Amino acid sequence: MENKRRIAILGATGSIGQQALDVVARNREMFEVELLTANENVEQLAKDAIAFDANAAVICNPQKYGELASALEGTDVKAFAGIDSVVQLVAGDNIDIVLTAMVGFSGMLPTTAAVKAGKTIALANKETLVAGGAFIMDLVKKYDARILPVDSEHSAIFQCLMGAAGNSIRKIHLTGSGGPFRTWAREDIAKATAAQALKHPNWTMGAKITIDSSTLMNKGFEMIEASWLFCMEPKDIEVVIHPESVIHSMIEYDDGAVLAQMASPDMRQPIQFALCFPMRPDLNSKKLNFSQLGKMTFEAPDLEKFPCLALAYEAARRGGNIACAMNAANEVAVAAFLAGQIGFYDIPALIEKAMDTVPFVKTPVLEDLLATHEQIMAQTKERIK
Ligand code: NDP
Ligand code: MG
Repeated sequence: MENKRRIAILGATGSIGQQALDVVARNREMFEVELLTANENVEQLAKDAIAFDANAAVICNPQKYGELASALEGTDVKAFAGIDSVVQLVAGDNIDIVLTAMVGFSGMLPTTAAVKAGKTIALANKETLVAGGAFIMDLVKKYDARILPVDSEHSAIFQCLMGAAGNSIRKIHLTGSGGPFRTWAREDIAKATAAQALKHPNWTMGAKITIDSSTLMNKGFEMIEASWLFCMEPKDIEVVIHPESVIHSMIEYDDGAVLAQMASPDMRQPIQFALCFPMRPDLNSKKLNFSQLGKMTFEAPDLEKFPCLALAYEAARRGGNIACAMNAANEVAVAAFLAGQIGFYDIPALIEKAMDTVPFVKTPVLEDLLATHEQIMAQTKERIK
């Protein structure tokens, strides 16, 4: 049997992190859990670190260090605090795979560190690739790291590509459910509340990505993520709304053949495929029943109702640090929308403003990305006030 895969799960207490731990629990003979991290949730972090016999646990909020240290007292798990500890520990020789499942731009520094250490990255934290795609992919090449996608659409594309036999593809059809407001009129969407946006029809996910799904910003992020992961021009990545969420994306070869990957919507499938790659152990997910399903439907996205998707294509076209600015403004706007401080269409308005005013940097390195992020976060907060 091969050696156990030694894994770090960043954002272990979140939706992806917890489902990843379920995958690990179902395949204990395959994995050694080395590192778990969280931002605030000491209780869950300590509980899982002990249950999975982790080597170390990091709570990113340094004020919670005392709480974590006492929760882990008398166990073999070492307690750490702060993002600097995550950055240091992910690069350790005791880690093979780093699952990036923290939310937002907080993934930038740890992902950079893991890539520089030549790790295999199971990438859920798409915001890092959206904000700094060119920078990260250059590092991946330079340090001989490897990225395996966790996002269901990218996992689907990756799974379809396994049969490519050296052939190139001309198109990616990126599917999305359309979110909770797909059938709503624009004037009703304008009055939508956070509670309504949080009711995703097919997936249960963390709050930020659920709002991103309701604005279709998530689909825009995924288009950019796909362009970096699969070296495709944004114009060759077409978003198609598929409300049943059975096809998780498709690729189209030059001869017109289209390959789709299907599964019932259960994030543990793509998570497990990334962690166990190329193996496919048994998973107790719901089986697809095609006669019960009856039909699958498709439609074009409505860019009038969902301007965030158009903004993402524009950011991809303009390049440089524009997508970094888009991501930062979105992060602030979504938090404000969740807090009931702004309306639904203030989100794209704030993003557009940020993209139009950010000083352009053609080839951003880490310092430029951090500076753009900070600057746009501050400006967008100011605009909301
Ligand atoms: P959740 O909000 O459920 O979990 C986020 C995790 O990150 C938690 O462990 C949280 O810790 C931690 N975290 C939050 N803020 C910070 C911070 N500033 N610094 C360090 N850690 C932080 O998110 P999801 O699991 O839904 O999503 C995680 C990532 O995966 C996102 O990038 C998302 O886009 C991507 N993704 C998610 C999918 C899903 O189905 N959920 C599908 C595809 C991609 P704590 O619990 O302590 O707050
Ligand atoms: Mg997705």
